Amino acid sequence: MPLKQPRHARRGSRDLEVNPIFSREPVRVPRYVMPDGQMEPDTAYQIVHDELMLDGNARLNLATFVTTWAEPQAQRLMAECAEKNMIDKDEYPQTAELEMRCVDMLARLWHAEDPHRATGCSTTGSSEAAMLGGLALKRRWRHRRLAEGRPADRPNLVMGINVQICWEKFANYFDVEPRYVPMEGDRYHLSPETAVELCDENTIGVVAVLGSTFDGSYEPVAGIAAALDDLQARTGLDVPIHVDGASGAMIAPFLDPDLHWDFRVPRVASINASGHKYGLVMPGVGWALWRDFGALPEDLVFHVNYLGGQMPTFALNFSRPGAQVVAQYYNFLRLGFDGYRRVQQTSRDVATRLSGEIAKLDQFELITDGSQVPAFVFRVREGNDAFTVFDVSAALRERGWLVPAYTFPENRTDLAVLRVVVRNGFSHDLADLLVEDLHRVLPHLEGQREPHRTADDAGGFAHGTEIKTSRRHGRG
Ligand SMILES: *Cc1c(COP(=O)(O)O)cnc(C)c1O
Repeated sequence: MPLKQPRHARRGSRDLEVNPIFSREPVRVPRYVMPDGQMEPDTAYQIVHDELMLDGNARLNLATFVTTWAEPQAQRLMAECAEKNMIDKDEYPQTAELEMRCVDMLARLWHAEDPHRATGCSTTGSSEAAMLGGLALKRRWRHRRLAEGRPADRPNLVMGINVQICWEKFANYFDVEPRYVPMEGDRYHLSPETAVELCDENTIGVVAVLGSTFDGSYEPVAGIAAALDDLQARTGLDVPIHVDGASGAMIAPFLDPDLHWDFRVPRVASINASGHKYGLVMPGVGWALWRDFGALPEDLVFHVNYLGGQMPTFALNFSRPGAQVVAQYYNFLRLGFDGYRRVQQTSRDVATRLSGEIAKLDQFELITDGSQVPAFVFRVREGNDAFTVFDVSAALRERGWLVPAYTFPENRTDLAVLRVVVRNGFSHDLADLLVEDLHRVLPHLEGQREPHRTADDAGGFAHGTEIKTSRRHGRG
């Protein structure tokens, strides 16, 4: 079913006018109906190209975690692979081989006990990977319940209310009750005690996020695992963990090697990451890995032809571009461990220095400082009544910066923040420019008699921090 566009998305019914300077026919083309006839490829190209110039400048987009720059060599490889379909393992066996090599590399990076027994696949992003991780948890729980002769019709998944919207989708699409732990005071993510409190015999797993979308902080995976160990000792309930490492799974291995968040924690059954975030690939690739074959029920796996034999696959899509997987392999090869470490360390250095500069301003107060995932959030200091974070976001937008402002979920809906995500390519120089622009807009904002904008003006670029509520999905 095609979704209806919101009214404002249809900008008039006027035709598109083709710039007369091109001296080409046609000079008008319809906007919403397919043109009757053909046109020159150069004309079509120019129309599309010109229209897309109105998109924001990716370099100044501090809202997204997703990679907006790639080396020319990576782009060349992607262009060379544009026609390759990831599902055609038999036709493009080398692309399939590169995918498996990436899975092997990630299994080692995430400390699988036996990398040969770890299993996994590429996906279109962390959202698809989350669906797969969640489905495996649900299916394992179901098998266990049925084997015990117990009902298996009311699965639930425990997570912090700060989870990215993909987990709300998973729960909705696959009929799993989401159990969100609300924020409390200055606890902005899941804690071991609060996670365990919501677990019962119908809990298929706990999602721990490495790199909360709301503030860039790591959730305490090892602590949550220890609390679940204790739960098992007390009650016999054995609840596995899925780590949503969309951004953090590509940061922590390089910058926090001693942090135990991955397969070193025996309770961690599966991990997802976005290749297109700190994996440094352009949009379109994610990864899902399971610690061993036992964590991924065989009855979820399908088999496709591969070199005269069969290859197991687990995916929501059938056809999918192979170019991003090739680019991921290129990056792993090109940068190696030390290259990734240096790139990520630079992002963290820029984030922490920039947050330090912002902390020096009287008007703001940091919530996080970018020392985990290189992203941080800050609020308007209490007592500043002239403007809101939404005013700051709008003022920065006038200078070209896209810095999202949003409100935290329950029980901290009183807290509104601005978020800066530092990605590869956001340099110290750009950070200085941002600070300069903040200095430039602040006197004007402070001169306002009252705030001009509220959360209603926040715009649509909250990036997965859309508000959900824990009460709507009560426990009963
Ligand atoms: C970005 C993000 C997702 C969704 O990932 P996509 O790759 O955009 O599908 C899920 N979880 C977290 C924590 C994220 O940051």
